[in-house]
Amino acid sequence: MLESRLVKRLRAGWVVPVASAPLRDGVVAVEGGRVAWLGPSGEGPAGEDVDLGPGVLLPGFVNAHTHLELSHLAGAVGPAPFVPWVRSLIAARAGETPESVRAAARMAMAAAAASGTAAVGDVSNALLHLEDLSQSRLRAVVFHELIGWDPARAEEALRWSRERLAELAELQGVEVRRAAHAPYSCSPRLLSLMAAAGGPAAIHLAESAAETRFLADGGGEFATFLGERGLGHVVFAGGARSPVEHAEACGILHAGLLIAHGVQTDAADHALLARRGVHVALCPRSNLALGNGLPPLPALLAAGVRLCLGTDSLASSPSLDLLAEAVELHRAFPAVDPAILVRAATAGGAEALGLAYHGRIGPGARAAFAYVAAERPPSEPLAHVLSGASATGLFYD
Ligand SMILES: [Zn+2]
Repeated sequence: MLESRLVKRLRAGWVVPVASAPLRDGVVAVEGGRVAWLGPSGEGPAGEDVDLGPGVLLPGFVNAHTHLELSHLAGAVGPAPFVPWVRSLIAARAGETPESVRAAARMAMAAAAASGTAAVGDVSNALLHLEDLSQSRLRAVVFHELIGWDPARAEEALRWSRERLAELAELQGVEVRRAAHAPYSCSPRLLSLMAAAGGPAAIHLAESAAETRFLADGGGEFATFLGERGLGHVVFAGGARSPVEHAEACGILHAGLLIAHGVQTDAADHALLARRGVHVALCPRSNLALGNGLPPLPALLAAGVRLCLGTDSLASSPSLDLLAEAVELHRAFPAVDPAILVRAATAGGAEALGLAYHGRIGPGARAAFAYVAAERPPSEPLAHVLSGASATGLFYD
């Protein structure tokens, strides 16, 4: 009797396990914070029935690319062309305090969880909010981000990162991996050193046309920007056909690398990304806000690139609602199968972050879900999920 009371049977109009076909009138039994069973509503273990309604139950979303520490900048850095936006972001961060960073990050974590996100890939320079993250609903992989354009200081940057990560290794509940910011802020030497040390785990890549131009010939807006930052003495002639080829030349395109954006890419880049087993986190709403255009989703899919979704930070995105990113891509590319976008929002992110208990509803998975309400069971559950309705986070752990 006691045991049966510990089991909750979550019933919904549809259950979308992601790893298998959607289940009409499905039940998910949860016990001890994990999924114990799923199947038709008339079957399964006894337990307390929880009728969620006629809507769609999915695994909690995985936001593979965000920056929780920038949440205090919501609304403070206006949409602008990319390089002016980078300038205003740096200026706005000058006024931040640990308290303002942590308070806004905590609110952002709560909002993300409330809209159905269960796990995040969180990029951070300052690592001020790790305790808040470990106490939140979100499971996280934190990417400690290095920036260093002066090659003479590359060893120093890597040494500093090693010491910082060693300090943090003891922290419970949050895994921290080393990442690079971008190919216009990390010198080829720093990227190569990181590659030799096991590779950056993540990097922003192929985001703006200004980045492509800079890596091609060393000129344009990023050359001006680096000059303003006192880095005009660093010799850089470019020479890369594309940002992806620059990353390849620096040796960082290893299996499991997570790149954010991948907007400025072509068929040769896609083939290389697919061959190397690189994960690409698409962040379409941020791309649109910064005037970078949308990622070439059909071409990425056709090449077999591993895709996941991210919101990027509140400095460029209107919210940390991961489902809104899938909805944006569905609107822009209506011919793409909704199942592919739902997979990218869940299992794709879990694979990119190496979170085995996320991104699917199945025995052993974490009992953290997203629920998209409906007035009656929709005839096409995945199309309904992408119709623009919002999701609610449900946590049973
Ligand atoms: Zn980012």
